[in-house]
Amino acid sequence: MLNIVLFGPPGAGKGTQSAKLVEKYNLIHLSTGDIFRYNMKNDTELGKLAKSYIDKGELVPDEVTINMLQAEVEKYPDAAGFIFDGFPRTTAQAKALDAFLESKNTGITLMLALEVPEEELIKRLLLRGQESGRSDDTDETIIRNRIKVYNEQTAVAANYYNEQGKYHAVQGVGSIDEIFERLCHIIDAHSMII
Ligand code: AMP
Repeated sequence: MLNIVLFGPPGAGKGTQSAKLVEKYNLIHLSTGDIFRYNMKNDTELGKLAKSYIDKGELVPDEVTINMLQAEVEKYPDAAGFIFDGFPRTTAQAKALDAFLESKNTGITLMLALEVPEEELIKRLLLRGQESGRSDDTDETIIRNRIKVYNEQTAVAANYYNEQGKYHAVQGVGSIDEIFERLCHIIDAHSMII
């Protein structure tokens, strides 16, 4: 299986690049943010709980997020692989994901981390807020808190994959196609080795 963690701060382009990668490599795209938003829209218990964190730009607790992610993976027993977008966001989530995938005789192949300067992220998110109406993208205070949470709680999860030799940083500034090429280059180089 080809299991990729697409990593990076909010606004780095994970969703945009995931859409292109799933098509090229025939993978299942799992975005925990999208799943939370789906639940919020349908006013489920999970959605109500998630909303109380998302509206502040905080992380939804690990246990809730991990259980939800595992249930999603279970829905695709025949998948050729997954793109995990927005998960893991803590080292605890990364460890739980490893243990879970190991129980399925698979594991994470690569972590691809999109790097984008902070002021560019804020610009992109405010623009996305105008276009999509996502409430956590319209308020600059919430946006700045999400980036702070990323720097303080999420960025460290990259170390976990770095120690396993799976971490690859990718410059996330440029055209969508240029960035996509950079990601494909790493995936294809890796696929030649295995
Ligand atoms: P995203 O669409 O990935 O930017 O996620 C939107 C929001 O959903 C985040 O700001 C968090 O509040 C929540 N969220 C998404 N993924 C996770 C995760 N793996 N762990 C905790 N909270 C998450």
